[in-house]
Amino acid sequence: MLMEVTCRCGWTTRGSRSEVVTNIQQHGRTAHQQEVTPAEVRAIWRVVHVTGGGDGAKK
Ligand SMILES: [Zn+2]
Repeated sequence: MLMEVTCRCGWTTRGSRSEVVTNIQQHGRTAHQQEVTPAEVRAIWRVVHVTGGGDGAKK
């Protein structure tokens, strides 16, 4: 399952659960000098529904 998280600054990451947690923890440290806990990530992440056959049609 693919997850997506958008930071309050507009930065977005998506990937597996563990990837998203790792990515936003790195982003929090480098961009905001802030530690993000996995629980905080779980509170704000969304499930990305991948239908297959075509990607980025809305962008
Ligand atoms: Zn940010």
